[in-house]
Amino acid sequence: MPLINAHCHLELTNLAGKLPRNKPFFEWLTELRKQVATWTKEDYQASYRKGLELSTAFVYDVGNQISEPTLHSPLSTLHFIAMHEVIKQPMPEPCTPHSLYATPPELIKQSVKSCVKAGIPWSIHLAEFDESDRFSDFLDIFKDEPELVKNGFIIHGNFLTESDLHFMANNDIALVHCPQSHEWFGHKDPDFEMWKKSGVDICIATDSLASAESLDLMEQVKTLFRRYPNAFTQEEAMAAITSVPGKYLEKTMRSVAARSMCP
Ligand SMILES: [Zn+2]
Repeated sequence: MPLINAHCHLELTNLAGKLPRNKPFFEWLTELRKQVATWTKEDYQASYRKGLELSTAFVYDVGNQISEPTLHSPLSTLHFIAMHEVIKQPMPEPCTPHSLYATPPELIKQSVKSCVKAGIPWSIHLAEFDESDRFSDFLDIFKDEPELVKNGFIIHGNFLTESDLHFMANNDIALVHCPQSHEWFGHKDPDFEMWKKSGVDICIATDSLASAESLDLMEQVKTLFRRYPNAFTQEEAMAAITSVPGKYLEKTMRSVAARSMCP
């Protein structure tokens, strides 16, 4: 099973080293917006390409600038799926919502539906920076069509409750932990024991270089073990960057490979 990075924003790669650490999330976001205010389409594309060059895994990427290489460019090989991240406007499919705080409910529903239709897991940043970013609010959006809330990735999930985790475990929704990004913001320690007890699938991913030092999954695992030596066994950590995300992305990886081989 190859290495699989379940969460990244490749188009932000050239923000490496430019954003502050240990700032409240929305201050960091304001600084990010300032930094990219003058970026052109070409800047985003160059940043995306740099990210692909630094990647050592298959990447489930989310981006809102449509800056990924086109299907037949030399970089468009077997190594990534470019998901268009929906913020305030609809985006071409395949698309997935950014977050509850940035994306209106109807667009969240619409983009999750597009993933279900395409058979690709959806993803959303959720329960990241405090208790107000609630999984139950996400579920409320789907109260008429609860069957849509399956086969997805909750990114960060620092504030998920035990019942959220049980729901996720029973509905094939994985928790994606990004160790360097977690350290970058100084978020509270995760309750790894509760995560593991719930039976939820746990993936380890990089996030972007706007809040991490490396796009190498093994570096993320090293950070995790440095900070929390007893949180996972070596086998569990390796599964979190191979077979666990693979359970969600195997079909997508096969179809990306098939498409890139078409003339
Ligand atoms: Zn992210």
